[in-house]
Amino acid sequence: TRAEITYFGAGPAALPTDVLETAAQALLDYNGTGLGIAEHSHRSELATNIINEAKADLASYLDIPTGDYEVVFMQAGGTGEFSAAVYNLVGAWVARQHAAIVSELGGDKADEAAVVAALRARVESDLKLDYIVTGGWSLKAYQEAVRLLGPEYVNLAADARTINDGKFGKIPDQSTWKLSKDAALVYYCDNETVDGVEFPEFPSVLAPRADGSGPIVVADMSSNILSRRVPVENFSLIFFGAQKNLGSTGVTVAVVRKSLLPPVTSQPSPALLRKLGLPIPPIILQYETIARNNSLYNTLSIFDVYIAGQVLKKLLRTYPDKVDGQQAVSEKKANIIYAALEAHPEVYRIVPDKSARSRMNICFRVIKNGNIDEAEKTFLKEATAQGLTGLKGHRSVGGIRASNYNSIPLEGAEKLARFIDAFAKA
Ligand code: PMP
Repeated sequence: TRAEITYFGAGPAALPTDVLETAAQALLDYNGTGLGIAEHSHRSELATNIINEAKADLASYLDIPTGDYEVVFMQAGGTGEFSAAVYNLVGAWVARQHAAIVSELGGDKADEAAVVAALRARVESDLKLDYIVTGGWSLKAYQEAVRLLGPEYVNLAADARTINDGKFGKIPDQSTWKLSKDAALVYYCDNETVDGVEFPEFPSVLAPRADGSGPIVVADMSSNILSRRVPVENFSLIFFGAQKNLGSTGVTVAVVRKSLLPPVTSQPSPALLRKLGLPIPPIILQYETIARNNSLYNTLSIFDVYIAGQVLKKLLRTYPDKVDGQQAVSEKKANIIYAALEAHPEVYRIVPDKSARSRMNICFRVIKNGNIDEAEKTFLKEATAQGLTGLKGHRSVGGIRASNYNSIPLEGAEKLARFIDAFAKA
């Protein structure tokens, strides 16, 4: 039964039972309206209220400065955001260069053909997107940028595999990152779900300068959002799928700096992008369009926003000090599990380097009598028998992965730690 298991799956992840009970009722009959939440129009007032409350609760929980940032709900998953980040921030870069060139060439009187020629030359010489690749998900984002733009515009600023025998598991020292001048974006994944690698803190080399200028930083926080404090002001874009710490699969959140949301009319037109050989963003991935329509440019799953909203309300009820309260619990749970593994180095090998260990996805190998495959099979079988489920590592890397998301209670982490200890001793 649900009460007997602790589910450590990497996403979709377990959701709090009381949230699901409330949502189950809402699915049948929302607030006595006789109609379920998945049946009401997304244009109804109650749908708008659900969106606005979820946005406000997210902003409150994470201290998002709402004067400067817009929160939007989208639908194409973290994977859709790999593409959206490229389209939107290349568009913003072109818009800035276009404005600069027009003013260099005489403002209103500038000759259009000359502007386009100069802009094309600038795109060819200066357009760069920087990627810090520290695991499977940032690698996918990098590959998507290359696919959309071509390799000439995409700079692999750091590749963690080069310092760790071809495998992910360490974060290259910031001093070695090959950052471009005025990149259209600098991208990294804050927590690599498959590889168990998490940035211990915001990379200082990307911090804004004293005058407020600085790199345009984009981060994928799909698998660690809501688990620790985020210096939102350092980012131009943060995105995350809901299905780990926030809610059910089906909505993706983007927190976008408002200054990157100029009206579509002042963004590069499709005709101009075509002349520059750059891709035209699908309208559904255009942040400005989604933001201007309060996330309702098209039909949004209000049910999924509702679940996310209920999770946020529960977090706000549970932790008077908001994300700081959850952060302390997340660290405590992760420390308990890592300590159990470290106590038996003859049986367990933690995959990532200590300096980059994820608090959310704890990846390790199990070795007994010199045998990995057998030991891991037995580990999974015995764990499952005790109600500790979802522990199998990602198919691309194997091993064991305990996903320690917010819905894992402290007792769940303690139970796993006791099992890890007992299994090693047996
Ligand atoms: N980024 C990270 C860090 C992820 O963990 C995942 C999915 N596990 C994705 C992106 C892709 O998300 P989606 O499946 O929603 O496209």
